[in-house]
Amino acid sequence: MNAKSFLNYLENLRQEYLTNNPGEVASYIPELLKVDADWLGISVVTVDGHVYQVGDSKQDFTIQSISKVITYGMALEDKGVTAVLEKVDVEPSGEAFNSISLEPGTGRPRNPMINAGAIATVSLLADGNAQDKLKRMLDVYQSYVGHPVRVDEDVYRSEKETGHRNRAIGYMLRNYDIIEKDTDDVLDLYFKQCSILVTCRDLALIGATLANNGVNPITGIRALNKEYVPNVLGVMSSCGMYDYSGAWIYNVGMPAKSGVGGGVVAVLPGQLSIAVFSPKLDDKGNSFRGIEICKRISKDFGLHLFHSSQSTVSTVIHARYSGASIRSKRYRIPEQAKLLNELGNKVMVFELAGDLMFTSMEIALSEAEHNFNLLRYLVLDFRRVTSINTGAIHLLVDFIYLSYEQGIAVILTNASEKFLLTNAIKKQIPNYKELQLLHHNDIDVALEWCEESLLSGHATINQTSVALADMVLCEGFTEAEISSLQHVLDKRNYNAGANICSEGEPADSLYFVVSGEVEVVFAAIA
Ligand code: GLN
Repeated sequence: MNAKSFLNYLENLRQEYLTNNPGEVASYIPELLKVDADWLGISVVTVDGHVYQVGDSKQDFTIQSISKVITYGMALEDKGVTAVLEKVDVEPSGEAFNSISLEPGTGRPRNPMINAGAIATVSLLADGNAQDKLKRMLDVYQSYVGHPVRVDEDVYRSEKETGHRNRAIGYMLRNYDIIEKDTDDVLDLYFKQCSILVTCRDLALIGATLANNGVNPITGIRALNKEYVPNVLGVMSSCGMYDYSGAWIYNVGMPAKSGVGGGVVAVLPGQLSIAVFSPKLDDKGNSFRGIEICKRISKDFGLHLFHSSQSTVSTVIHARYSGASIRSKRYRIPEQAKLLNELGNKVMVFELAGDLMFTSMEIALSEAEHNFNLLRYLVLDFRRVTSINTGAIHLLVDFIYLSYEQGIAVILTNASEKFLLTNAIKKQIPNYKELQLLHHNDIDVALEWCEESLLSGHATINQTSVALADMVLCEGFTEAEISSLQHVLDKRNYNAGANICSEGEPADSLYFVVSGEVEVVFAAIA
């Protein structure tokens, strides 16, 4: 369920900006003037798929430059990073979005977020006829936003009729062989992509899809190969707001993109996306209220990317104890208990907690390494671990190898549902079964196994039989009582693996185990 309080917050924010609406609606594309300059929509979508929207968040408008983000992702998928970088650089230009900012000599556009770079990016899309290319583009949009989208024909025509500057840029790119195809076709598709209709909610979903590693958080459909998400977000954070990009990342601290249609979308990777629609622009071509509202939300909720929460030993290691201080639930005869008290500190349990990534895992593992000279068994428990990423897994696998080299057995408990982790272990540590790495899924079972291994070096203790008087149940009995009890007992021997009593059978006998081991098993009903 979504938080009503956050919706109220967004609504109050919208109210606050209703009358604070400076700037001008873009007029260089005449059709863009046909909007209500007061429209204001705000939408926030989380990577869990919670959608918050207030105001005119369902109003259609043209995506304009925000389309550059999607096309750039498509070009990376079609051609790969190296081929794309050969044609379009990723340096901030510090100039206006429509500047003819090409690298001297090569003619390579500075980045794919300004018009020059975006037009070159269109020319990198996989071949096909014009219709197929547009269809594919619209399909990709659909995977981002979760429903079919279309081109606003009037805006497209208006932009095409007046887009002389973009045509000049296109021919310049053709002159430098950055565009190697028919320039008019490339420009035509560029004009069309800028004229695709979206809502503020759609923009937030595009952002949330990027925040969610390329998968739409509501439909679960992948819109962009995960591999390229950091490239797309990277170029958005350095170049997405044109010549305001530096101040934007300084103040708001999220990769973002704006368009002259009045949309702005900001992405907080792994968390959420904010979209604002407000058609009046500042002198840099960014939505005035879009910027102000993103600044406010970022500040009020501490969303700046560089406001990182730091892991500390106490947040990563929920609890730690040695096998001497906490033992398995298995009953031990006094000699065994005594021995385990002496040897127990060779066993160490770390209950890990929270999101494990490189830094938090590094903290936990270096703590464990401090105890290496003492240890023979290390139990790492994952019950309280909420997520574990590839960086953390990489560290852990290396750590497990190092531990074995030093004669320390590592056991992972409550890890069976951490599939990223268990799959990596199975792949990278082929003898994981033999090592019993994932064999004991519960701390108690793991502790018992460690204790058994410790005790097995002291075979005499295992064979000791216990006198009736030493049984816990007989504590406080007089000698006479012990002897009369002894009188009514008879001695029974069972072979290893034999069953003593099954569920449902009458429980009419009392057993004292004088030697050997008995296990109580609750079998799951099939
Ligand atoms: N279609 C617009 C143009 O090419 C896009 C610019 C923008 O949104 N900043 O001029």
